[in-house]
Amino acid sequence: MKFMKKFKKIDFGFKKIDVKQKKELVNEIFSQVSTKYNLMNDLSSLGMHRMWKNELITLLAPQPHQTLADLAGGTGDIAKKFVQNGGKNAHIIDININMIENGINKESKKIRHIIGNCENLPIKDNSYHRATMAFGLRNITYREKALNEIYRILKPGGRFVCLEFSHVENYFFKKLYDLWSFKFLPSIGEFITNNREAYQYLVESIRMFPNQDELALMMSKANFSRVKYINLSEGIVALHSGWKI
Ligand code: SAM
Repeated sequence: MKFMKKFKKIDFGFKKIDVKQKKELVNEIFSQVSTKYNLMNDLSSLGMHRMWKNELITLLAPQPHQTLADLAGGTGDIAKKFVQNGGKNAHIIDININMIENGINKESKKIRHIIGNCENLPIKDNSYHRATMAFGLRNITYREKALNEIYRILKPGGRFVCLEFSHVENYFFKKLYDLWSFKFLPSIGEFITNNREAYQYLVESIRMFPNQDELALMMSKANFSRVKYINLSEGIVALHSGWKI
């Protein structure tokens, strides 16, 4: 048993690495690309990440009394949109200080930043009305732990919405998307950030991430109720929603 634990492997893109290495490798990537992160989001998604994030906010429909925990919130797009669209305030929780610092601007007024690991949140039970995680779960080593933590910090009646890359089913669209992902995206990443590996990791990690139904099941196992998802852009991304009832 001890032997098994010592050599436990996990995906890092298409590579298999020691489970203990993943957090540091992911952290290195985000530290290295943090200054160009927002620009690369626009280039790599051809601007579509803005529309996907707006869809998340439309689904959440923030109310003036509501507080949000934006987990793996990075440069804070979701938290900012939440308060701009009527939410009371938002906390961004992220493990990487560079990502947080690069997101702080005049839109960050009703936002507090917390450095923390989503697998072990430094937050009391039943704290927030809403929780979000956009493009975070894929990067987390112990995803089940993170989902349990999100459930724990939500107030009863609270809702979690996860926006994450998912799986494209349409055969022809998938071919086109794979061509863009593998042939162009790492080169654009290299040109802009001087870090090809980070964007190679991105496209590979997307392919290794659980599909829409598998993620829905993981959320149900973490006790979320009424778990549902919708595909956006043919399933390039999916929005998963679950409630703490
Ligand atoms: N949510 C932001 C967005 O949509 O633009 C940022 C997403 S970025 C792809 C992923 C973020 O997850 C990074 O800021 C990274 O530091 C953070 N992250 C990765 N592992 C984490 C962990 N275990 N706990 C908290 N944050 C983590």
